[in-house]
Amino acid sequence: MDGVPTVSVLLPLAVDGPYTYRVPNGVTLSPGDIVRVPLGPREIIGAVWDDVPDGSVGHNRLRPVAHRYDAPPLDPTIRKFVDWVANYTLTPRGMVLRMVLRAPGALEAEHDIEAVMLSGKPPERMTDARRRVLEQAGDGAPWSRAALAAAAGVSPGVVSGLVEQGSLTLVHLPPTPVALPPDPDHAPPRFDDGQSEAAAEMRRIADAGLFGVTLIDGITGSGKTEVYFEAVAETLRRGRQALILLPEIALTTDFLDRFARRFGERPAEWHSEVPPRQRERTWRAVAAGTVKAVVGARSALFLPFPELGLVIVDEEHDSAYKQEEGVTYNARDMAVVRGHLGSFPVILSSATPSIESRVNADQGRYRRIELTSRFAAAKLPEIRAVDMRVHPPERGFFLSPVLVQAMEATLAAKSQSLLFLNRRGYAPLTLCRHCGHRFQCPNCSSWLVEHRYRGQLVCHHCGHHEARPERCPACGTEDSLVACGPGVERIAEEVAQRFPEARCTVLSSDMLGGVPKMRAELETIRSGGTDIVIGTQLVAKGHNFPLLALVGVVDADLGLAQGDPRAAERTFQLLAQVTGRAGRAGGDSQALLQTYAPDHPVIAAIASGDREAFYAREIEARRTAGLPPFGRLAGIVISAAERASAQAYAMVLRRAAPEEGPAMVLGPSEAPLAVLRGRHRFRLLVRAPRGFDLQDFLRSWLAAAPPPRGNVRVQVDIDPQSF
Ligand code: ADP
Ligand code: ZN
Repeated sequence: MDGVPTVSVLLPLAVDGPYTYRVPNGVTLSPGDIVRVPLGPREIIGAVWDDVPDGSVGHNRLRPVAHRYDAPPLDPTIRKFVDWVANYTLTPRGMVLRMVLRAPGALEAEHDIEAVMLSGKPPERMTDARRRVLEQAGDGAPWSRAALAAAAGVSPGVVSGLVEQGSLTLVHLPPTPVALPPDPDHAPPRFDDGQSEAAAEMRRIADAGLFGVTLIDGITGSGKTEVYFEAVAETLRRGRQALILLPEIALTTDFLDRFARRFGERPAEWHSEVPPRQRERTWRAVAAGTVKAVVGARSALFLPFPELGLVIVDEEHDSAYKQEEGVTYNARDMAVVRGHLGSFPVILSSATPSIESRVNADQGRYRRIELTSRFAAAKLPEIRAVDMRVHPPERGFFLSPVLVQAMEATLAAKSQSLLFLNRRGYAPLTLCRHCGHRFQCPNCSSWLVEHRYRGQLVCHHCGHHEARPERCPACGTEDSLVACGPGVERIAEEVAQRFPEARCTVLSSDMLGGVPKMRAELETIRSGGTDIVIGTQLVAKGHNFPLLALVGVVDADLGLAQGDPRAAERTFQLLAQVTGRAGRAGGDSQALLQTYAPDHPVIAAIASGDREAFYAREIEARRTAGLPPFGRLAGIVISAAERASAQAYAMVLRRAAPEEGPAMVLGPSEAPLAVLRGRHRFRLLVRAPRGFDLQDFLRSWLAAAPPPRGNVRVQVDIDPQSF
């Protein structure tokens, strides 16, 4: 090609292959460099990729790279990671790169911060406003102009005037670092007998620094965090970066404090609540290797760490690690891949490991470390099933007399109770007692949930909401609408009626005030500012509530009713986690499970504390059915505005499926949510034996099938959450 130098540039768009560009004279470009290139009429950020540039494009048609950013290049491991994730999830590589280039502003060089300070030169003319500014600045420290004006109670013009006159001088300060280096030896804990062996193992694993997966399988309150902090410490000593993933990081602020108590400094944070500017600075500092420890949500896995030496996935069983939209990936599994590509250890931690991780440990692919007692001899709560057929609540109420009595005793002892119900709002269904009309979402196949505080009926899937009417829209009868079943708001109403003196806190993800309000409420609970907590799954996750002595599960059967084989696993995990919130700081505690099916294996396993029985049963059921992790599974969701088009294309795909071979195609059937946001959804499931190249199978099948037309969309979901 006449020796014209070219490069491949991957762009953060829904395209798989990189584009070829010309390298301008005098510029050197290497894989990983972040560049800006022309695309049509605009310019776009991309990254130089490893692919050999396409030589077939005539050099007179090649456009040059417009700019190379003065930013740390993406290292080979993350480039391989992008390719790997794209290949595994059947998404265009550009879409995965987009998750890496999440903070484009980070590419601009960081500017110094401008500040003003006293020069000592008096102003030519003194005014009242000027005097106040000079007094305020009197301690000689640098101020930002805006802060100084605000502190002195003057307009910014007054400060500018003093700068022009020379009474205030401009100074330039380097930006404050995103996070100071954590000190691995700041405050190592004293481990108890149950922990010390596990902690030593953590140090050995991190010191060796080789790829391998370790599952810390320890009961709630056994001190798993302190144990895996040892691996973080060892990684820091080796000068490498460490990443800790948490499922609900925005609500886990006390985790940052815990980290700071152990390592002397807070880690950098990465999640959707971090303001954009801060995210950009964090991205850049991670890429530069100056940030050594990051605590983040699943998306932190795509940060461009150059020296990553450890990933910890806390609460590894949590379904929040699965991203369901765009690139559908499970961050727990992709963390293992990243460790493999980067040759470093990965640690998974949970009190209720996923069946997948447990089987991987049993079969020797993962190392397993068990912690079987609570830290400092704190006792697990005594767990009991309350048979609602024997101890029914009074009419119109939802709490059994057994639970109410336990709450009275807990209140009298000045301890805290927690009522858990995984249902937001007031009532999950509203119907007309006259004609039987039920309020349904116009866009989704789901009932509208009444939210009484807001006076609305809300769809929990698409957000559709409408005012609760006075009369039934179907038959016109007045005052005929009844709320069926409880949500947390309704339980709060019952509690207020039964315990008018008690201080009560409701915690659910749709609270007015959002995350800041939730954080404040969590702090109120921790510090004893409330007597009775009523909450959704938000309260089940990882929190330490030291005063909690009673957990009441309002409806332990909720979730078991679904036909999904994963329902049992999820319910088991949720119940074990929520009951595990009690008694963490010592003292006697109890958990009561309200149920109509006390003999159900999940309820029985929780009540008897025999978790091994539960795992053995579930694992056997999966093995027999050839379900993950004993087989491979993919979902293909076909959606369209009209039901008929979605179904028709699902049939087309089904017929195009290869007949031969070990993969089995099931369906189409209506997807778990048959209508979502106005789109009808059908699903095909593909089941194949372990070791089968499912991606290859899907790729050739989908490529050979007639393409979807009109508004029909196809979304592949490898390892779907429900099956
Ligand atoms: P888990 O994550 O296993 O449920 P945590 O790591 O939250 O348990 O530990 C439970 C409690 O015990 C926390 O308050 C924690 O600070 C405390 N703890 C655990 N190990 C130690 C230790 N070695 N020294 C001091 N406190 C500890
Ligand atoms: Zn809806």
